[in-house]
Amino acid sequence: AVRIHGISKSFGTLKVLDDVELNLPAGSVTAIIGPSGSGKSTLLRAINHLERVDSGFISVDGELVGYTQKGEVLYELKEKDILKRRTDIGMVFQNFNLFPHLTVLENIIEAPIQVRGVSRDEATALAQELLARVGLSDKIDAYPRQLSGGQQQRVAIARALALRPKVLLFDEPTSALDPELVGEVLDVIKELARTGTTLVIVTHEIGFAREVADSIVFMEGGHVIEAGTPTQILNDARHPRTRAFLAKVL
Ligand code: ATP
Ligand code: MG
Repeated sequence: AVRIHGISKSFGTLKVLDDVELNLPAGSVTAIIGPSGSGKSTLLRAINHLERVDSGFISVDGELVGYTQKGEVLYELKEKDILKRRTDIGMVFQNFNLFPHLTVLENIIEAPIQVRGVSRDEATALAQELLARVGLSDKIDAYPRQLSGGQQQRVAIARALALRPKVLLFDEPTSALDPELVGEVLDVIKELARTGTTLVIVTHEIGFAREVADSIVFMEGGHVIEAGTPTQILNDARHPRTRAFLAKVL
């Protein structure tokens, strides 16, 4: 489970996250929606400790993200330990971020070998299994530039899964794709949801959120305005700001 407890973050005088509180049970699928600039990406980056928060804390299965606690005081971990712990938290970005000079296979096995110390054979076997899951077994020796955007994003998902993360974070995974490629990536994410991986997805695909998410979180101005089941949020939002946002996007 992921616990986000009272986190705040400012860039200069701009408060981007303001006392955000969320609990994400193990195996749950959470969709985060909200207008541009509301802090969605910053929140995801904080969960992965790519962004250091000013106050509050985040834990994954009880382990603090980026910190260790001695008595009442939190100490930031060393870079090496941060990297190790970050492997519990996979992240998939809007623009895939594959290594362009590596093949699909090499992209997937790099981190398990380098960070987890897995043998090349074991990493390759897992990569083959994951590529089958995302429907790309035939692309194992291709380079990213030889793939469509949807295929690249599916490789990126396989790469994230190769570290066997406890949580997988998606930041608008389909918004850089041509419309006809969106479905194949959403299908892979739906399949992951069925297998009980804890997922957090920032998305503008409201229909997808309705179908797949256990809960939907609406953010605006660095605040969680409202969170609840898809039915609660999409059909029966309590807060006028949620309703105003949905009126624009639905
Ligand atoms: P979008 O839907 O457009 O992706 P978002 O909800 O993901 O928006 P964030 O990227 O989290 O929004 O940004 C929240 C606010 O923080 C924005 O006003 C943004 O300009 C600001 N911001 C984000 N990163 C930085 C940074 N490194 N330095 C300064 N300001 C930043
Ligand atoms: Mg964003």
